[in-house]
Amino acid sequence: MKKVYLDHAATTFVKPEVLEEMLPYFSQFYGNASSVYDLGRTSKKAIESAREKIAEIFGAQPKEIFFTGSGTEADNWAIKGLALANQDKGKHIITSSIEHHAVLHSCQFLERNGFEVTYLPVNNGGLVSVEDLEKSIRKDTILISIMFANNEIGTIQPIAKLAQIAKKNNIIFHTDSVQAVANLKINVEELGIDAMSFSSHKFYGPKGVGGLYLKNGIQIENLLHGGSQEREMRSGTENVAGIVGMTKALELAMQNFESRQEKMTSLRDQAISEISKITKTAKLNGHREKRLPGNVNFSFQEIEGDSLLMNLDMKGIAASSGSACSSLSIEPSHVLLAIGLDKKSAKGSLRITFGDENTQEDLDYLIVTLREIFKNL
Ligand code: PLP
Repeated sequence: MKKVYLDHAATTFVKPEVLEEMLPYFSQFYGNASSVYDLGRTSKKAIESAREKIAEIFGAQPKEIFFTGSGTEADNWAIKGLALANQDKGKHIITSSIEHHAVLHSCQFLERNGFEVTYLPVNNGGLVSVEDLEKSIRKDTILISIMFANNEIGTIQPIAKLAQIAKKNNIIFHTDSVQAVANLKINVEELGIDAMSFSSHKFYGPKGVGGLYLKNGIQIENLLHGGSQEREMRSGTENVAGIVGMTKALELAMQNFESRQEKMTSLRDQAISEISKITKTAKLNGHREKRLPGNVNFSFQEIEGDSLLMNLDMKGIAASSGSACSSLSIEPSHVLLAIGLDKKSAKGSLRITFGDENTQEDLDYLIVTLREIFKNL
């Protein structure tokens, strides 16, 4: 059976060039980066070279890049660590209602521990309003965390404007860029970002490795205490192969940035146009233009998302009905509810996210299959 993977927002495969770069760090250069002998120094050098390369891609300084074990860890560290380290200035945090659970549940943890959180609404395209943000700032606001691009509907927020407001009010600005990194060009300095989370497995790197950009001088509390790695801020023996792989994957993404964007945007736009024609109830979720290049998200009235996914799966197509992390729960997606969908529409949603290896043929197969599924309903 033909197999078509259309769930790149959930995860991606590891590119062969990335794997090749990683392999020596498993059995040949396996030294602990904290060890003083040659084997240890080799690992240390690989990590520091990776830090320099990632910093350059983000327009940051190497000392502002910290490696973590996932995007989830980076988000938890940013939200909890920044809140704890700055609580003498206040205990109010602002975020959006459509954040990933790594941010939302970290905020809820803080609420249970004496902090107050404002969850900004979004409009029906999924955009946060700059005016709403300004209005919700208080004297005791210490942190604003708004995601760069949404994992379900692909909406891209006006990050520069939001960061500017944070700066004007002397508030730290964090952005969860797990879906944006490698799909959009990001310069933290130009955009005014103070902290930014990213995750390797979303851009053809290995799973279980990510990072946090943290602007020099910003105070953060450590979450992981131990052997004082990452300049005493994030303990744990470094995942050298993972860090090397993530860096190679990011470099590859940036080398082919324009052509990747062009191809993905073309597949996305054709998919949006063709799916709209399949059934009258098809409704595009998320912003039409301010949208990640590979993201397509539709709601349908005549079928539940889960049944649609099963039908697609039987034809060898892997897609998603929401974020992968909540696909086991039967609750409708908080993101779709936040953009104004009723529960039925939210449960009848389909997310398709294209990636580098997808072809026109994959798209055509998807459309033919969807037409068939809807015809047989
Ligand atoms: N933030 C967003 C926007 C995501 O899409 C994800 C993963 O789905 C995460 C955070 C968590 O990243 P990780 O899977 O590396 O823990």
